[in-house]
Amino acid sequence: MVKLIILGSSNAIPSLDHENTHLAITSTERTVLIDCASNPVVRLEQAGVDVNTVTDIILTHFHPDHVCGVPLLLMDMWLMGRRQPLNIYGLHYTLDRVETMMGLYGWIEWPNFFTVNFCRVPADEMAIVFDERDMCVYSSPAKHFLPNIGLRIELKTEKKILAYSCDTEPCAAVLDLARDVDILLHEASGNFMGHSSAAQAGDVARQAGVGVLYLIHYPTGRYASGDLVAEAKARFKGEVQLAVDFMEIDLN
Ligand SMILES: [Zn+2]
Repeated sequence: MVKLIILGSSNAIPSLDHENTHLAITSTERTVLIDCASNPVVRLEQAGVDVNTVTDIILTHFHPDHVCGVPLLLMDMWLMGRRQPLNIYGLHYTLDRVETMMGLYGWIEWPNFFTVNFCRVPADEMAIVFDERDMCVYSSPAKHFLPNIGLRIELKTEKKILAYSCDTEPCAAVLDLARDVDILLHEASGNFMGHSSAAQAGDVARQAGVGVLYLIHYPTGRYASGDLVAEAKARFKGEVQLAVDFMEIDLN
């Protein structure tokens, strides 16, 4: 069974019930983390996912609410005796900074560290992040404050396609990533530079012809305001859902 688990759904300011946005895709062959916020070991445990099954991490961009969990996750994996290699994918810009960050923690001196493969993805439209027997992931640069990628994930056996906008203003590249997908996860931080509102997410869903739109990376807690689903539905006639923490989306 393949599923997408929402490990966090908040924008950069988390709240009691909403961690920073990060996701997991689990299948029999792999567990892929998309971004790595907060305390991934605890979040995965809460979601019922064994941290040892994590094979791949895709980092969309180097903002703290998307990468701050990386050092702790890597250290915890090492302390738990991990031997299996781990693949971390992202733009040059992102991974250069992750390596610098780990360097500041002095990880080079941690003995018997497992192999981490940093896989740099070109900043091209529909660049292949990885292409495995069961799953192919494409990325395109989105429109944010710094280099950032949105994703298109094709599940070969299940014949399902999923897209994730990441943090972005509406842009042609994300529209292309989302073209005719079954599921689009689109951010809904608000209508300001580098981000999108729920209504704009609805526009993207309509223009791309998606199946179901899930709104994510939205203001939560005391910053929550308005009916985001209604705002998106005013622009998109298909199904709209609000992604919430630990929601599981069936991808079979
Ligand atoms: Zn960001």
